[in-house]
Amino acid sequence: METVFINKLKPLLDAVAEQMALLLPKKTGEHYIYSRYDPSGEIPVEFNNIRPCTPIKEFLLPVCELAATSPEPLEPEDVKPFAIFGLKDCDLRSIEILDKVFADEEFRDPFYVKRRENMFIISSDCFEVGENCFCNLFGGRPFAQSGFDLNVSKVKDGFIIEAGSQKGRDFTEKHPQLFTETSGALLAERDENRSRTQRRLEQNNAEYQFDAPTKEIVEKSQDSEIFDVEARNCVECQACTRICPTCHCFYLYDTKQKDYFAKMKMWDSCMRVGYAAVAGGANPYKILGDRIKHRLLHKFVYFLDRYGKDMCVGCGRCVDGCAGEVDIRTVLKKLSEEFKDKEKAKVTK
Ligand code: SF4
Ligand code: SF4
Repeated sequence: METVFINKLKPLLDAVAEQMALLLPKKTGEHYIYSRYDPSGEIPVEFNNIRPCTPIKEFLLPVCELAATSPEPLEPEDVKPFAIFGLKDCDLRSIEILDKVFADEEFRDPFYVKRRENMFIISSDCFEVGENCFCNLFGGRPFAQSGFDLNVSKVKDGFIIEAGSQKGRDFTEKHPQLFTETSGALLAERDENRSRTQRRLEQNNAEYQFDAPTKEIVEKSQDSEIFDVEARNCVECQACTRICPTCHCFYLYDTKQKDYFAKMKMWDSCMRVGYAAVAGGANPYKILGDRIKHRLLHKFVYFLDRYGKDMCVGCGRCVDGCAGEVDIRTVLKKLSEEFKDKEKAKVTK
């Protein structure tokens, strides 16, 4: 792929901001949250070393939106091009998952597709590892593998920029004055940084090696008591699903306006007690442990069966955000150990 070099981020961001609204992560407390880029330079630009706290779905799937109207059908409004800087590999992989659900051939959400087509993605390498990052357990890397327009890798004296799409190539070709060539030494430095971060990730997650594919573990653990045990710490706040970049359940409800009917679409959460309730009072997921189990089944079994990939990118946001200290890695590890014991017992019978 093509790479170029730039000493400072500001000229690159200014050039992007001239063409479209630009959002980038700002350190707020311990976390990075997206905010609008300030070209005046009064707010200094930071390179976010780890993934932002905000899941990227917030820009593609609003928490609540108008989905349909009657009698006149609703057409998606024009979406102005916008750019987001600082997405990490886990963010890009979460977009790939959302694309499968909302932008595939069979079921296309025109509102999602419109936003997606107008989004310019500037990803960046992870320079550090978050305490709860575990992307390496699910095929992730601490640098973008695909799905970006431009990628930024921090090196000692500047930043290596890589174009990953036609939109990205058009941008670098349009602004040749911003960039110089990359040298072999710079690329070697980038690769060493990437390997160092990868090693840290692997060290941090060394204890979470599972004894079988996650699908098999979760699918064959449906009678396990571990889900109910985990539920004892859960306060049902739903943070794990709201902050998860891949959780995408929604519900629809109707409202009557003065001269038309409107169907609204709103984020839902399988951790909510009424999530699966139906008319007549039946509720297959009334028990919290069953809802935790369903969350894992959706992520590691149903989604994999339907789309050929896990619905978890190992970003760790659900662990960061959990008031009850429920850690999905630990739940999988416990299930994995129990599964191994059961398999051993079958052999010795
Ligand atoms: S389940 Fe947790 S770790 Fe996996 S993608 Fe969602 S927030 Fe990230
Ligand atoms: S974030 Fe933790 S406490 Fe809140 S619903 Fe999810 S598992 Fe339960």
